[in-house]
Amino acid sequence: MTVEAKKETLGFQTEVKQLLHLMIHSLYSNREIFLRELVSNASDAADKLRFEALHNDGLLESDPNLDIRVDFDQEDKTITIADNGIGMNREDVIAHLGTIAKSGTADFLKQLTGDQKKDSQLIGQFGVGFYSAFIVADKVTVETRKADASAKEAVRWVSDGSGEFTVEGISKEKRGTSIILHLKEDAEEFADGWRLRNIIRKYSDHISMPILMVKQDMSSEEEKQEDQAPEWETVNTAKALWTRSRSDISEDEYKEFYKHISHDFADPMKWSHNRVEGKLEYNSLLFIPAKAPFDLYNRDMQKGLKLYVQRVFIMDQADEFLPMYLRFIKGVVDSNDLSLNVSREILQKDPAVDSMKGALTKRVLDMLEKMAKKEEEQYAEFWKEFGQVLKEGPAEDFANREKVAKLLRFASTESKGVEQDQSLEGYVSRMKEGQDKIYYITAETHNAAANSPHLEVFRKKGIEVLLLSDRVDEWLMSHLNEFDSKQFADIARGDLDLGQLDDEGDKKALEESAKEKEDLLKRIKDALVDQVEEVRVTHRLTDSPACLVVGEHDMGAQMRKIMEAAGQAMPESKPIFEINPEHPLISRLDQEADEDRFTDLCRVVFDQANLAAGGQLDDPASYVQRLNKLLLEMAG
Ligand code: ADP
Ligand code: MG
Repeated sequence: MTVEAKKETLGFQTEVKQLLHLMIHSLYSNREIFLRELVSNASDAADKLRFEALHNDGLLESDPNLDIRVDFDQEDKTITIADNGIGMNREDVIAHLGTIAKSGTADFLKQLTGDQKKDSQLIGQFGVGFYSAFIVADKVTVETRKADASAKEAVRWVSDGSGEFTVEGISKEKRGTSIILHLKEDAEEFADGWRLRNIIRKYSDHISMPILMVKQDMSSEEEKQEDQAPEWETVNTAKALWTRSRSDISEDEYKEFYKHISHDFADPMKWSHNRVEGKLEYNSLLFIPAKAPFDLYNRDMQKGLKLYVQRVFIMDQADEFLPMYLRFIKGVVDSNDLSLNVSREILQKDPAVDSMKGALTKRVLDMLEKMAKKEEEQYAEFWKEFGQVLKEGPAEDFANREKVAKLLRFASTESKGVEQDQSLEGYVSRMKEGQDKIYYITAETHNAAANSPHLEVFRKKGIEVLLLSDRVDEWLMSHLNEFDSKQFADIARGDLDLGQLDDEGDKKALEESAKEKEDLLKRIKDALVDQVEEVRVTHRLTDSPACLVVGEHDMGAQMRKIMEAAGQAMPESKPIFEINPEHPLISRLDQEADEDRFTDLCRVVFDQANLAAGGQLDDPASYVQRLNKLLLEMAG
């Protein structure tokens, strides 16, 4: 016996154990999906083999007709799903049927609560795949032989799903994989020809290769001829779904196809199926998932489309066909122009791919635009799941900047709650007479933005302000210069220019008070010389004593954090300190003769302005000490 053939017992990765436990306990209400998952894997295996065979004709020769066979044995209570696809060798088996390679899995599993309903929804976003066999089986045997291996190099994997599995070398006559499910007592009902046919038609009809089952024998016992080779028949449509015409495909077929290619459990939110003819010829079928995957922000999240060339599967995750900010889109693109030998390197350079990318991007944006117009509620759902990612669009996709901008949603001073529910078009339609800018504020949290002192003058004048608090917002705004020919203006940055919205009288009053307070401004500047760039009289405030303003060309707090997190050293930049001379605290400050106390007061007001903007103090303890000292003096 060779080392390879030796039987060894191995433990499942911890994550697999957790997943198995969960699946067995929370997916029991929809047990039949195990078949969809195993058929889906068999179909993937056939696709992979066909692709390998493009470079290696020998592979297909011995057994050229790719198919999937589903069989059962009512007496033994088994179901067998067999394919003649790519197969697996020993390493493959151990890696693929003992671990979960997806990064972030451990974090994902931590979110599971043990609440069956919630967990089964969560697990839907994750996809359970092969391990779903254990929903109906208390023992699973996998016999597999890789396409390029000899009959003696096949492998048997066996597990009861509780924690361990065994692998041993065996002989297998043909290439490919057979999965044998030893049904649990309460799942014996699945060993039934009609039931299996129904499940296949329901979930796997779209699979592009034939799924075969043994013809049901309708003859009576006496007529039955023993020893006759079983006759197989195809039970699915067996035609690549995207090549069929839209009008022939039912909603359910689209949904099941989506689940097959996305490994998602839930139905998609929307899809767009198109055939393009002309200079370039291709079919595309693009889906918007209902929920964001748990690894949407993970660098190695699975993104991109499934690429076919003339119906032949070429690769998964071809991410050259859509921009990064649409990485959540799942789907298929089948080109008639690309070569069957196409590689990632070629894709990256091929101008045809570029022009397909342009067209597919537009398809997605059009689909979203339509949804935003016609199905506001659904669009709101979409926005909750994927809005953050769409916000990366204007920076990445210059050509579609305006189109993406139309799709953006923000919270604003007009929003009811914290929802991001306002479009820029809506904002523009509500602009005040004489208003020529779109005003916004960014802060760490929604509340910090919504309660910022900077909003005071806007409230007074009834001008709407967008409230931005997502991590990407500052980045987004640095790439959105205008919308509908209106410039964007950060209300906490630079000189606040309200244009025609400013009252002439107010302006004059401001100038006068600036002159009047010149000495005070200088005193404050001296007290805060290390903290502030400049001290000036404000026209932003009505109720607060002071606020901080970012210099016109300085980096905002959010961007600074992002850059620092990325390891970039940021140059120091000091804010501008604006005071409200009408405020009693500022008047009190003006009257303070004791220089030490004056400095303390200045610092407290400065730190408070920082806090009110949602900022963090460099030295919170000193702030507290100073404030307490002042409070005590007051009491005394
Ligand atoms: P997924 O299909 O999302 O990759 P699965 O859990 O369904 O995850 O399958 C895990 C892996 O096991 C597959 O990616 C594949 O490498 C391997 N596998 C499963 N079934 C087969 C099969 N019938 N033939 C070849 N490989 C298979
Ligand atoms: Mg799978």
